[in-house]
Amino acid sequence: MGYTNHSRDIRTFDLEELQELVKELGQPAFRAKQLFEWLHVKNVCSFDEMTNLPAALREKLAEEFPFNTPVELVRQVSKDGSRKYLLQFSDGVSVETVGMPNRNKLAVCISTQAGCGMGCAFCATGFAGLTRSLTAQEMVDQVLHVARDFGERVTSVVFMGQGEPFANFDATVQALRILNDPQGLAIGARHLTVSTSGVIPGIRRFAELPEQFTLAISLHSAIQSTRNQLMPGVKKYTLLRLHEAIQDYVEKTGRRPTYEYAMIEGVNDTNPEMEALVDFCAGTLCHVNLIQLNDVSTSILKPSPIEKVESLQKRLTMHGVETTIRSSRGSDIDAACGQLKQRQSASSK
Ligand code: SAH
Ligand code: SF4
Repeated sequence: MGYTNHSRDIRTFDLEELQELVKELGQPAFRAKQLFEWLHVKNVCSFDEMTNLPAALREKLAEEFPFNTPVELVRQVSKDGSRKYLLQFSDGVSVETVGMPNRNKLAVCISTQAGCGMGCAFCATGFAGLTRSLTAQEMVDQVLHVARDFGERVTSVVFMGQGEPFANFDATVQALRILNDPQGLAIGARHLTVSTSGVIPGIRRFAELPEQFTLAISLHSAIQSTRNQLMPGVKKYTLLRLHEAIQDYVEKTGRRPTYEYAMIEGVNDTNPEMEALVDFCAGTLCHVNLIQLNDVSTSILKPSPIEKVESLQKRLTMHGVETTIRSSRGSDIDAACGQLKQRQSASSK
């Protein structure tokens, strides 16, 4: 079957497929390399921009192959410089993406699914349930959108927007590899971070990857009954097995995993909770990120006071566990996971 009369996004063609296409169109072979450069190195979003291709060829390609780049529905700019986007794909589904500049660096936070099926009690995305998983191209498109908007090179990507990456494992790994490709955006593997709610089969598969991608685990409690309440979607992956899977990951990869711990007043900031967290982490290779819960209006859960966060940090440090207190960037623009989308649907009701 030929490539003509197709409506497949031209950007999903790899070099080999472009070579076949060029041949089919009766063009010299070097055009494939030119096309590849425009599509995957310069990341243009129209054939018009491919100035070294003959106009007739550009027109012909434009008639047959779409660029399914997402449409920006909302763009908010925070006082701290971060920008949050609601991006819509060709089937009408939309997701959130955030760009966070810091000196000469640009970090991007992308979604792996539209919505999420894990139902975490503190998460705005969790309330609405899962709409669908994203393709690798749709994940990469979020990064490209932010790169274009800032006009800068993206230096790191965190898969920490909406969705559970390990409920969409293959597309997530494909996206990681495209972002890491030295011929493309060439973002170092260590600067590509995937955050999971603790889906153990995913952690085990992730440990087998040859690349040095970074792993983050949303822990939020080291006491089983509390964690079951906060994160019902991962109830079956018990803390005991999670701990084991993470230690296997560390042994296999030699890499340091990060634990995310959002502090919720009266829920996971009590003495027994702090002790359990210290027990979970002490003596293992890890880094703990403490953050005050982002207030989600639909939830009764409230952030812990900063003193509690500081006292937990002190306790972890005393036991030799490395800890960072993270500030929530862009809190003035609803930058917490799922909040922009929630606001958007509330206002359109
Ligand atoms: N589903 C994956 C990745 C996306 S969520 C995961 O859960 O790890 C990204 C991070 O935001 C996770 O650590 C999640 O627990 C955290 N998060 C979600 N809602 C939050 C809130 N209201 N306040 C603080 N952190 C939140
Ligand atoms: Fe899904 Fe992560 Fe939100 Fe839980 S915290 S509902 S896993 S996006």
